[in-house]
Amino acid sequence: MDEQTESGNTTLYAMEALGRWLEAEPPQSKIRQVLMAFAAKTLEALEHGEAPPKADVNALSAWYRDQEGGPVPSEPITGKWLPASQVQTWWDGQQNSRRQFLQGAKARQDVDLIIDRGGGRGNPTTYRFAFPESVIDSDPDGVEPIGDAATAERNSPGLVTYSVERAQSGLLWHPVIGQPFVMKSARGYLFLGVVSLPLAVFLFCVIVSAVGLATTPATYVHHIGPYAFAITLSLLAFRAFKPFWDLPTLRVTIAPDWLISRNQIYAQLRLTRDSEKKASGRFALVRFYASCPVCAGTVEIREGGDAFPGRLVGCCSDSPREHVFSFDPVTQRGRALIQ
Ligand SMILES: [Zn+2]
Repeated sequence: MDEQTESGNTTLYAMEALGRWLEAEPPQSKIRQVLMAFAAKTLEALEHGEAPPKADVNALSAWYRDQEGGPVPSEPITGKWLPASQVQTWWDGQQNSRRQFLQGAKARQDVDLIIDRGGGRGNPTTYRFAFPESVIDSDPDGVEPIGDAATAERNSPGLVTYSVERAQSGLLWHPVIGQPFVMKSARGYLFLGVVSLPLAVFLFCVIVSAVGLATTPATYVHHIGPYAFAITLSLLAFRAFKPFWDLPTLRVTIAPDWLISRNQIYAQLRLTRDSEKKASGRFALVRFYASCPVCAGTVEIREGGDAFPGRLVGCCSDSPREHVFSFDPVTQRGRALIQ
């Protein structure tokens, strides 16, 4: 894999990795699609030995249209089509995810998006990718955050930066969720089929009961036991599958114990949006974790419980009641919830 060592290829390698990251990690948005088109153009230029291109909003919108299709706009494109401040917010918000991905890909350079804000007419805002040297930690097993902001965060108590890794599913579940997948795929349909099973059983029970009741009302009472049993069973199954049903609205939920490998104590289900449709997206079984800024224990994600209802929180394995942190799966950051 070390084509990187050949001089000049580290930039190309980092750019390729950025393209893979854009494809795999951030949720669907116009900014992501624009940057995917821009990254592809930048990669093309680098492959031809050219400098990374500078692009204004006109060039970006043309490349975006090449990729996504859509009519040629009748009016000239203005900065409103892609507000620079929103792009900056988006880029900064994904920083931890991006850096960890590039480190995981063993890229030796980081990729940054430089936005030169223009002022007034004839001086448009331009975008380009830059490739600062990445300060990869010599620590071989820990993915440490890199860069100034991350270093500052690491040193300030009360703030955590989460890392994310793939989690192992139980053996039985491996064919269904062992690998990340897109919902619009064979694996996605299999997955939907499996998680819809309790609903199918429930409907079956309802129909059988209804038919039984309609045809033989006298004997129905004698057979109520099995029906009640089947309905209880499907209700239990509904409960068990709740983390899946909650995914389209909550995006990250706690993976139930029966789903994950015995070597794995904590894992989360993650559905990253890849279009506006409810049941679409990219599914992955992952584990978010961090190092506790108070005691250096491992922070794992759990339900917030009564103290933080409706939230997922990061709890230190060594002091789970006191070292508790908020958890944001997009920015992969959190702060102390108990002072
Ligand atoms: Zn701790």
